[in-house]
Amino acid sequence: MNENKVAIVTGASRGIGKAVAKELASLGFDIVINYFDFKDGKPDNSAAEETQKEIKGCQILRGDVSSADERMALVEFTKTKFGRCDMLVNNAGVAPAKRTDILEATEESFDRVMNINLKGPYFLTQIVANWMIEQKKQNPERNFRIVNTASMSSYTSSPARGEYCLSKAGVSMMTMLYADRLAEFGIGVFEIRPGIIMTDMTSVVKEKYDKLIADGLLPTKRWGYPEDIARAVGAVAEGRLDYSTGQVINVDGGFHLRRL
Ligand code: NAP
Repeated sequence: MNENKVAIVTGASRGIGKAVAKELASLGFDIVINYFDFKDGKPDNSAAEETQKEIKGCQILRGDVSSADERMALVEFTKTKFGRCDMLVNNAGVAPAKRTDILEATEESFDRVMNINLKGPYFLTQIVANWMIEQKKQNPERNFRIVNTASMSSYTSSPARGEYCLSKAGVSMMTMLYADRLAEFGIGVFEIRPGIIMTDMTSVVKEKYDKLIADGLLPTKRWGYPEDIARAVGAVAEGRLDYSTGQVINVDGGFHLRRL
Protein backbone atom coordinates (compact mmCIF):
# COMPACT_ATOMS: atom_id res chain seq x y z
CA MET A 1 0.00 0.00 0.00
CA ASN A 2 1.15 3.54 -0.78
CA GLU A 3 2.80 5.26 2.17
CA ASN A 4 1.21 8.67 1.58
CA LYS A 5 -2.50 9.33 1.81
CA VAL A 6 -4.23 9.40 -1.59
CA ALA A 7 -6.94 11.71 -2.95
CA ILE A 8 -9.00 11.43 -6.11
CA VAL A 9 -10.01 14.84 -7.48
CA THR A 10 -12.40 14.93 -10.45
CA GLY A 11 -12.24 17.64 -13.13
CA ALA A 12 -8.86 18.72 -11.87
CA SER A 13 -6.77 19.58 -14.91
CA ARG A 14 -7.74 23.24 -14.44
CA GLY A 15 -9.89 25.65 -12.44
CA ILE A 16 -11.04 24.84 -8.91
CA GLY A 17 -10.11 21.17 -9.17
CA LYS A 18 -6.50 21.97 -10.05
CA ALA A 19 -6.17 24.33 -7.06
CA VAL A 20 -7.67 21.64 -4.80
CA ALA A 21 -5.25 19.03 -6.14
CA LYS A 22 -2.29 21.35 -5.45
CA GLU A 23 -3.53 22.13 -1.93
CA LEU A 24 -3.95 18.43 -1.09
CA ALA A 25 -0.52 17.66 -2.52
CA SER A 26 0.95 20.38 -0.27
CA LEU A 27 -0.66 18.55 2.68
CA GLY A 28 1.13 15.34 1.74
CA PHE A 29 -1.45 13.54 -0.37
CA ASP A 30 -0.61 11.71 -3.57
CA ILE A 31 -3.19 12.71 -6.15
CA VAL A 32 -5.21 11.06 -8.89
CA ILE A 33 -6.55 13.64 -11.29
CA ASN A 34 -9.56 12.87 -13.46
CA TYR A 35 -10.23 15.19 -16.39
CA PHE A 36 -12.22 15.22 -19.60
CA ASP A 37 -10.76 18.09 -21.57
CA PHE A 38 -11.86 18.57 -25.15
CA LYS A 39 -10.67 21.35 -27.40
CA ASP A 40 -12.27 21.89 -30.82
CA GLY A 41 -14.14 18.60 -30.43
CA LYS A 42 -10.97 16.55 -29.80
CA PRO A 43 -9.49 15.10 -26.60
CA ASP A 44 -6.71 17.39 -25.36
CA ASN A 45 -4.41 16.17 -22.60
CA SER A 46 -2.22 19.27 -22.47
CA ALA A 47 -3.77 20.93 -19.37
CA ALA A 48 -3.75 17.65 -17.42
CA GLU A 49 -0.13 16.92 -18.41
CA GLU A 50 0.88 20.43 -17.38
CA THR A 51 -0.88 19.97 -14.01
CA GLN A 52 0.83 16.61 -13.55
CA LYS A 53 4.22 18.30 -14.01
CA GLU A 54 3.32 20.86 -11.35
CA ILE A 55 2.27 18.28 -8.72
CA LYS A 56 4.72 15.72 -7.38
CA GLY A 57 3.25 12.23 -7.00
CA CYS A 58 0.31 12.99 -9.28
CA GLN A 59 -1.31 10.49 -11.67
CA ILE A 60 -3.74 11.57 -14.38
CA LEU A 61 -6.55 9.65 -16.08
CA ARG A 62 -8.97 10.93 -18.71
CA GLY A 63 -12.54 9.90 -18.00
CA ASP A 64 -16.12 11.10 -18.21
CA VAL A 65 -17.69 11.10 -14.73
CA SER A 66 -21.12 10.58 -16.31
CA SER A 67 -20.00 7.17 -17.68
CA ALA A 68 -20.33 4.15 -15.36
CA ASP A 69 -17.43 2.37 -17.07
CA GLU A 70 -15.16 5.38 -16.79
CA ARG A 71 -16.03 5.92 -13.11
CA MET A 72 -15.10 2.30 -12.42
CA ALA A 73 -11.91 2.72 -14.48
CA LEU A 74 -10.92 5.72 -12.31
CA VAL A 75 -11.26 3.69 -9.12
CA GLU A 76 -9.44 0.67 -10.60
CA PHE A 77 -6.66 2.99 -11.80
CA THR A 78 -6.29 4.38 -8.26
CA LYS A 79 -6.20 0.85 -6.81
CA THR A 80 -3.50 -0.16 -9.29
CA LYS A 81 -1.35 2.95 -8.88
CA PHE A 82 -1.67 3.47 -5.12
CA GLY A 83 -3.75 0.70 -3.52
CA ARG A 84 -5.63 3.18 -1.33
CA CYS A 85 -7.97 6.20 -1.37
CA ASP A 86 -8.31 8.42 1.70
CA MET A 87 -10.20 11.29 0.15
CA LEU A 88 -12.57 11.86 -2.77
CA VAL A 89 -13.26 15.35 -4.07
CA ASN A 90 -16.21 15.42 -6.46
CA ASN A 91 -15.42 18.63 -8.31
CA ALA A 92 -16.10 18.01 -12.03
CA GLY A 93 -19.08 19.93 -13.25
CA VAL A 94 -20.47 21.79 -16.22
CA ALA A 95 -22.74 24.74 -16.88
CA PRO A 96 -25.39 24.31 -19.58
CA ALA A 97 -23.74 24.70 -23.01
CA LYS A 98 -26.20 27.56 -23.58
CA ARG A 99 -28.20 29.51 -21.01
CA THR A 100 -31.87 29.02 -21.94
CA ASP A 101 -35.02 30.12 -20.16
CA ILE A 102 -36.75 27.20 -18.38
CA LEU A 103 -39.82 27.84 -20.54
CA GLU A 104 -37.75 26.73 -23.54
CA ALA A 105 -34.82 24.68 -22.22
CA THR A 106 -34.28 21.20 -23.70
CA GLU A 107 -34.29 17.71 -22.20
CA GLU A 108 -30.95 17.13 -23.94
CA SER A 109 -29.27 19.87 -21.90
CA PHE A 110 -31.08 18.69 -18.74
CA ASP A 111 -29.75 15.14 -19.20
CA ARG A 112 -26.19 16.31 -19.95
CA VAL A 113 -25.95 18.59 -16.93
CA MET A 114 -27.67 16.19 -14.52
CA ASN A 115 -25.56 13.23 -15.68
CA ILE A 116 -22.25 15.04 -15.22
CA ASN A 117 -23.06 17.15 -12.16
CA LEU A 118 -25.24 14.78 -10.15
CA LYS A 119 -25.40 11.20 -11.41
CA GLY A 120 -21.61 11.11 -11.91
CA PRO A 121 -20.60 12.12 -8.36
CA TYR A 122 -23.50 10.20 -6.80
CA PHE A 123 -22.39 6.88 -8.24
CA LEU A 124 -18.65 7.60 -8.08
CA THR A 125 -19.17 8.21 -4.36
CA GLN A 126 -21.00 4.89 -4.08
CA ILE A 127 -18.01 2.96 -5.48
CA VAL A 128 -15.41 4.91 -3.49
CA ALA A 129 -17.45 4.79 -0.26
CA ASN A 130 -17.66 1.00 -0.46
CA TRP A 131 -13.91 0.84 -1.00
CA MET A 132 -13.35 3.23 1.93
CA ILE A 133 -15.53 1.01 4.16
CA GLU A 134 -13.34 -1.99 3.25
CA GLN A 135 -10.17 0.01 3.95
CA LYS A 136 -11.55 1.26 7.26
CA LYS A 137 -12.29 -2.32 8.35
CA GLN A 138 -8.70 -3.30 7.61
CA ASN A 139 -7.15 -0.13 9.08
CA PRO A 140 -9.51 1.39 11.67
CA GLU A 141 -6.98 4.10 12.58
CA ARG A 142 -7.09 5.67 9.09
CA ASN A 143 -9.38 8.63 8.26
CA PHE A 144 -11.55 8.91 5.17
CA ARG A 145 -13.33 12.00 3.85
CA ILE A 146 -15.49 12.95 0.88
CA VAL A 147 -16.07 16.49 -0.38
CA ASN A 148 -18.79 17.42 -2.86
CA THR A 149 -18.72 20.65 -4.84
CA ALA A 150 -22.19 22.13 -4.98
CA SER A 151 -22.82 25.83 -5.59
CA MET A 152 -24.69 28.93 -4.47
CA SER A 153 -27.01 27.67 -7.25
CA SER A 154 -28.10 24.88 -4.86
CA TYR A 155 -30.46 27.46 -3.34
CA THR A 156 -30.39 30.48 -5.71
CA SER A 157 -32.84 30.62 -8.62
CA SER A 158 -31.39 31.31 -12.08
CA PRO A 159 -34.26 30.46 -14.47
CA ALA A 160 -31.91 30.70 -17.47
CA ARG A 161 -29.98 27.64 -16.23
CA GLY A 162 -32.53 25.64 -14.29
CA GLU A 163 -30.85 22.31 -14.97
CA TYR A 164 -27.63 23.57 -13.33
CA CYS A 165 -29.52 24.76 -10.22
CA LEU A 166 -31.35 21.43 -9.96
CA SER A 167 -28.13 19.45 -10.33
CA LYS A 168 -26.45 21.42 -7.55
CA ALA A 169 -29.49 21.21 -5.25
CA GLY A 170 -29.19 17.45 -5.83
CA VAL A 171 -25.52 17.52 -4.84
CA SER A 172 -26.51 19.23 -1.58
CA MET A 173 -28.99 16.44 -0.77
CA MET A 174 -26.46 13.85 -1.89
CA THR A 175 -24.05 15.23 0.72
CA MET A 176 -26.65 14.82 3.46
CA LEU A 177 -27.50 11.29 2.34
CA TYR A 178 -23.92 10.07 2.25
CA ALA A 179 -22.98 11.94 5.46
CA ASP A 180 -25.84 10.15 7.20
CA ARG A 181 -25.09 6.73 5.72
CA LEU A 182 -21.31 6.81 6.16
CA ALA A 183 -21.13 8.30 9.67
CA GLU A 184 -21.25 4.84 11.28
CA PHE A 185 -18.05 3.99 9.40
CA GLY A 186 -16.32 7.19 10.51
CA ILE A 187 -16.27 8.58 6.96
CA GLY A 188 -16.98 12.32 6.90
CA VAL A 189 -18.88 13.87 3.99
CA PHE A 190 -18.85 17.62 3.37
CA GLU A 191 -20.27 20.10 0.89
CA ILE A 192 -18.30 23.02 -0.45
CA ARG A 193 -20.66 25.70 -1.75
CA PRO A 194 -18.70 28.09 -3.97
CA GLY A 195 -19.98 31.53 -4.86
CA ILE A 196 -18.61 33.42 -7.86
CA ILE A 197 -15.18 31.97 -8.57
CA MET A 198 -12.89 33.16 -11.33
CA THR A 199 -12.37 30.17 -13.65
CA ASP A 200 -13.02 29.22 -17.28
CA MET A 201 -16.62 28.44 -16.27
CA THR A 202 -17.34 32.05 -15.27
CA SER A 203 -15.13 33.70 -17.91
CA VAL A 204 -18.10 33.92 -20.29
CA VAL A 205 -20.07 36.00 -17.77
CA LYS A 206 -17.15 37.97 -16.33
CA GLU A 207 -18.46 41.44 -17.21
CA LYS A 208 -21.88 40.69 -15.71
CA TYR A 209 -20.32 39.51 -12.43
CA ASP A 210 -17.74 42.33 -12.38
CA LYS A 211 -20.64 44.76 -12.37
CA LEU A 212 -22.72 42.86 -9.81
CA ILE A 213 -19.75 42.66 -7.44
CA ALA A 214 -18.92 46.36 -7.94
CA ASP A 215 -22.60 47.16 -7.21
CA GLY A 216 -22.44 45.38 -3.83
CA LEU A 217 -23.75 41.84 -4.50
CA LEU A 218 -21.14 40.37 -2.15
CA PRO A 219 -20.31 41.57 1.37
CA THR A 220 -16.67 40.74 0.59
CA LYS A 221 -16.25 42.87 -2.51
CA ARG A 222 -14.15 40.65 -4.73
CA TRP A 223 -14.29 37.59 -6.93
CA GLY A 224 -13.52 34.27 -5.32
CA TYR A 225 -10.47 32.38 -6.55
CA PRO A 226 -9.89 28.65 -6.89
CA GLU A 227 -7.43 28.91 -3.99
CA ASP A 228 -10.26 30.11 -1.70
CA ILE A 229 -12.04 26.81 -2.35
CA ALA A 230 -8.82 24.83 -2.08
CA ARG A 231 -8.09 26.16 1.42
CA ALA A 232 -11.55 25.07 2.61
CA VAL A 233 -11.03 21.58 1.19
CA GLY A 234 -7.62 21.60 2.88
CA ALA A 235 -9.29 22.23 6.25
CA VAL A 236 -11.49 19.15 5.68
CA ALA A 237 -8.47 17.11 4.58
CA GLU A 238 -6.58 18.05 7.73
CA GLY A 239 -9.44 16.69 9.84
CA ARG A 240 -10.40 20.04 11.36
CA LEU A 241 -14.10 19.43 10.69
CA ASP A 242 -14.36 15.76 11.52
CA TYR A 243 -17.15 16.19 14.06
CA SER A 244 -19.14 18.27 11.54
CA THR A 245 -20.03 15.64 8.95
CA GLY A 246 -22.71 16.85 6.54
CA GLN A 247 -21.59 20.45 7.00
CA VAL A 248 -22.04 22.98 4.20
CA ILE A 249 -19.04 25.26 3.82
CA ASN A 250 -20.01 28.43 2.01
CA VAL A 251 -17.02 29.90 0.16
CA ASP A 252 -18.81 32.84 -1.36
CA GLY A 253 -17.64 36.14 0.12
CA GLY A 254 -20.78 36.20 2.28
CA PHE A 255 -23.30 35.88 -0.58
CA HIS A 256 -25.44 33.53 1.52
CA LEU A 257 -26.09 36.13 4.21
CA ARG A 258 -29.54 37.69 4.19
CA ARG A 259 -29.00 41.42 4.31
CA LEU A 260 -31.18 44.46 4.88
P1 NAP B 1 -14.09 24.65 -15.01
O1 NAP B 1 -12.96 25.62 -14.97
O2 NAP B 1 -15.00 24.65 -16.20
O3 NAP B 1 -13.54 23.19 -14.74
C1 NAP B 1 -14.42 22.10 -14.67
C2 NAP B 1 -13.62 20.85 -14.76
O4 NAP B 1 -14.51 19.71 -14.80
C3 NAP B 1 -12.81 20.80 -16.03
O5 NAP B 1 -11.57 20.17 -15.81
C4 NAP B 1 -13.71 19.97 -16.92
O6 NAP B 1 -13.08 19.42 -18.06
C5 NAP B 1 -14.17 18.93 -15.95
N1 NAP B 1 -15.27 18.18 -16.50
C6 NAP B 1 -16.33 18.64 -17.20
N2 NAP B 1 -17.11 17.62 -17.58
C7 NAP B 1 -16.52 16.50 -17.12
C8 NAP B 1 -16.84 15.13 -17.19
N3 NAP B 1 -17.93 14.71 -17.85
N4 NAP B 1 -16.02 14.24 -16.59
C9 NAP B 1 -14.91 14.64 -15.94
N5 NAP B 1 -14.54 15.94 -15.86
C10 NAP B 1 -15.34 16.85 -16.43
O7 NAP B 1 -15.05 24.84 -13.77
P2 NAP B 1 -14.76 25.36 -12.28
O8 NAP B 1 -15.26 26.73 -12.21
O9 NAP B 1 -13.38 25.02 -11.86
O10 NAP B 1 -15.83 24.44 -11.52
C11 NAP B 1 -15.49 23.33 -10.70
C12 NAP B 1 -16.72 22.92 -9.93
O11 NAP B 1 -17.14 24.03 -9.13
C13 NAP B 1 -17.92 22.57 -10.81
O12 NAP B 1 -18.62 21.50 -10.23
C14 NAP B 1 -18.76 23.83 -10.78
O13 NAP B 1 -20.13 23.56 -11.02
C15 NAP B 1 -18.51 24.30 -9.36
N6 NAP B 1 -18.76 25.72 -9.15
C16 NAP B 1 -18.06 26.68 -9.80
C17 NAP B 1 -18.34 28.02 -9.56
C18 NAP B 1 -17.61 29.12 -10.24
O14 NAP B 1 -17.99 30.29 -10.03
N7 NAP B 1 -16.59 28.88 -11.04
C19 NAP B 1 -19.35 28.36 -8.67
C20 NAP B 1 -20.06 27.36 -8.02
C21 NAP B 1 -19.74 26.04 -8.26
P3 NAP B 1 -13.65 19.79 -19.56
O15 NAP B 1 -14.79 20.75 -19.43
O16 NAP B 1 -12.53 20.38 -20.27
O17 NAP B 1 -14.12 18.50 -20.11
